[in-house]
Amino acid sequence: MTVNLLDLDLPHMVGFFATMGEKPFRATQVMRWVHRNGESDFAAMSDLAKSLRENLSRNACIEVPKVVSDRTAEDGTRKWLMDVGSSSVEAVFIPETSRGTLCISSQAGCTLDCKFCSTGKQGFNRNLTTAEIIGQLWLANKALGAERGGDRVISNVVMMGMGEPLLNYDNVIPALRLMLDDNAYGLSRRRVTVSTSGIVPMIDRLRDDCPVALAVSLHAPTDGLRDVIMPINRKYPLKELLEACRRYLDRAPRDFVTFEYVMLKGVNDSALHARQLIALLSDTPCKVNLIPFNPFPNGGFERSPREAIRQFSEILNGAGIVTTTRKTRGDDIDAACGQLAGQVTDRTRRTIRIARSGA
Ligand code: SAH
Ligand code: SF4
Repeated sequence: MTVNLLDLDLPHMVGFFATMGEKPFRATQVMRWVHRNGESDFAAMSDLAKSLRENLSRNACIEVPKVVSDRTAEDGTRKWLMDVGSSSVEAVFIPETSRGTLCISSQAGCTLDCKFCSTGKQGFNRNLTTAEIIGQLWLANKALGAERGGDRVISNVVMMGMGEPLLNYDNVIPALRLMLDDNAYGLSRRRVTVSTSGIVPMIDRLRDDCPVALAVSLHAPTDGLRDVIMPINRKYPLKELLEACRRYLDRAPRDFVTFEYVMLKGVNDSALHARQLIALLSDTPCKVNLIPFNPFPNGGFERSPREAIRQFSEILNGAGIVTTTRKTRGDDIDAACGQLAGQVTDRTRRTIRIARSGA
């Protein structure tokens, strides 16, 4: 059976080379070829013995998802749609003056059914493999020309694409380790962010196994509202979630957690919600990132008006919580948060009922 080398972090790569009777340094050498140089042809790995190159051609491969569409928005945001067999996932590159952020997916679809999320609405297809997760970075790096100039075009990676990364833990961890490994992408822990809807036991495991920057999708200041728009809250309610966040901070590369809060008109965006949020977050070092809701067909929610977002932000900032509002990028190619995977139909029409009931 051929092994896809993109599935292997350093310890596994060393293990694989050992099975061929090769020394550990061969593993790092090949890892550099594959991840740093974006090389997928063993024959081109000029500093390896010919016999090893032939051996690798027989026993290993470097396989990434097939790109089915590659579009660039007017603001430079670039989105790749990748075929992962039965369905497709998306990765988005967001260039800014001082950094370039790649947003990648961890699952095809998602099991969690958050009411405002396009990915949630399409249901769950399957977990991505490590190769498919790191393959998004490999492909984007290559497409952006990083392997030629050696420049760090991609300075940050955020796991904020499709899927819940902490529910695909075993495949996500080796991918994170590759992002951090100096022989691969060499990103600092502060520049790799896992975004989670709040899978409490897995937040603890991430802290122990591979602490990177943590973003938590909060979106509501009370259990009553969060239970409705994020059903996962019924399993891991706010009190437990915030305790896990504080435990995470003991080992985190940053001394705060980022809370994401999607601004849904008439649902979670009032001054009262802002005050409830301040009370909730009072003993958790954090920043809040407000995300204007990105509509999608049959989404059932509306984006809060600009003025409501400004007021909400001002109330939080006034209470000493550093609050930013996310700029919407890549509008013309549907590349914004929660819009990934293109158009889906709402099979349930549930969200419309929730929005109308004003829960
Ligand atoms: N499953 C993880 C990561 C992927 S979603 C999580 O939920 O955190 C990345 C972010 O986009 C999350 O904060 C998510 O709640 C938010 N999001 C989902 N749908 C959105 C929408 N339609 N508009 C704005 N943000 C959305
Ligand atoms: Fe899944 Fe995150 Fe979308 Fe919720 S917001 S359905 S956890 S991808």
